[in-house]
Amino acid sequence: MHSCKDTEKEQYMKQQDRLITGSLSQIGRKLVVMSGKGGVGKSTVAVNLAVALARRGNSVGLMDVDLHGPSVPTLLGIRGQRVFSELDRLIPIQYTDNLKVLSIANLVGGGDDAVIWRGPMKIGAIRQFISDVEWGLLDFLVIDSPPGTGDEPLTIAQTIPGGEAVIVTTPQELSLADVRRCVNFCRQVSMPVRGIIENMSGFSCPHCGKETAIFKKGGGEEGARLMKVPFLGAIPLDPAVMLSSDDGKPSLSAGEGPSAAAFQKIVEKIIIGGERQKSAGASAESEKEARGKDKKSMKKEVKTMKCAIPVQGGKLCAHFGHCEEFAIVAFEKGQIGSRELLKPPPHEPGVLPEWLAGLGVSLVIAGGMGSRAQELFRAKGIEVLTGAPGGTPEDLLRSYLSGTLRTGENVCDH
Ligand code: ADP
Repeated sequence: MHSCKDTEKEQYMKQQDRLITGSLSQIGRKLVVMSGKGGVGKSTVAVNLAVALARRGNSVGLMDVDLHGPSVPTLLGIRGQRVFSELDRLIPIQYTDNLKVLSIANLVGGGDDAVIWRGPMKIGAIRQFISDVEWGLLDFLVIDSPPGTGDEPLTIAQTIPGGEAVIVTTPQELSLADVRRCVNFCRQVSMPVRGIIENMSGFSCPHCGKETAIFKKGGGEEGARLMKVPFLGAIPLDPAVMLSSDDGKPSLSAGEGPSAAAFQKIVEKIIIGGERQKSAGASAESEKEARGKDKKSMKKEVKTMKCAIPVQGGKLCAHFGHCEEFAIVAFEKGQIGSRELLKPPPHEPGVLPEWLAGLGVSLVIAGGMGSRAQELFRAKGIEVLTGAPGGTPEDLLRSYLSGTLRTGENVCDH
């Protein structure tokens, strides 16, 4: 039996889910920077990645939810800066014209006092960082996630569907084990891994120029190879990085020298790697255009998206290429809209991605789909989820939007 309190809580969660989906629908790519343990340079990478993306003209948000060690304000020199709210929404700190930042440290004081977070509080805080923060229209949201594979990263993965993991590690074997755990975690929560970064990889002596592999080199690359995920690059151990970080200056994002050069290449790989996954190019373009015309009125504007689900007898058809018809379901701000049932053109390689892209579809939920077909979809900027359980198209899309869609094995992975 439901108590009154339960119902109120459920209603609150539902309302929060709607706010989260509304916020996320205005955000392009969500890069979740993760690591197996603390101290490997995860926050350094998150901060520099956000600054580097903003320098390239993107509109970027940086969200620091590393609850136990929020270091973004220190790394950006904005410790103690106050955060304001407007109509019950928190306004992130405008670091530059196109980079907004909000750290949990800006809300809890940011001093040296330890904040004691209990499990549900952590989950609530992370959800509020999306639902109650006025992120507005963003090309990228970079998330500095807490280390490990516990409740907090799980909340992030469940709250932010479509997030892409960037895993930071140091090169030694102990970190390699962490990489494996992180990649397995991402697989379990269906979060694609954009790639692995090996940080503190080798040390170039500033006096004699000789390179020393302090933590051994190549562990991150080896881990990426074994786990079959992309390797994004290695950043050397560089005292200048540490000094500039302490000084609140994100030197990797623009500075000179081998570490900054290595980092720039990594940023390019992250941009290119996700370009294929970007929601349909045309809609992104028109969104940018509209943003240029009238930034204010765009604030409230949310685009309608379309999801395609192969069906047989009204329910998900496990074999993508052999379905009777496709349900094309519109959705916006977490709400499911109209549905069309369309007969696909005759099955031939490449035909369905072309056809669905032409219909403006940006997401496909499937039971089984061959890897070649998945590549063709991604090349068209269409996100593909495989291994979905049976159900009606609306049920599947609803669970996807609430972050509860559990995917299993891709029955056509051959
Ligand atoms: P994490 O977020 O994983 O706990 P941080 O980003 O806070 O780690 O980095 C931990 C410390 O290591 C910081 O003092 C930072 O300046 C330093 N650091 C990070 N990357 C490098 C690097 N490539 N070379 C030298 N120092 C680094």
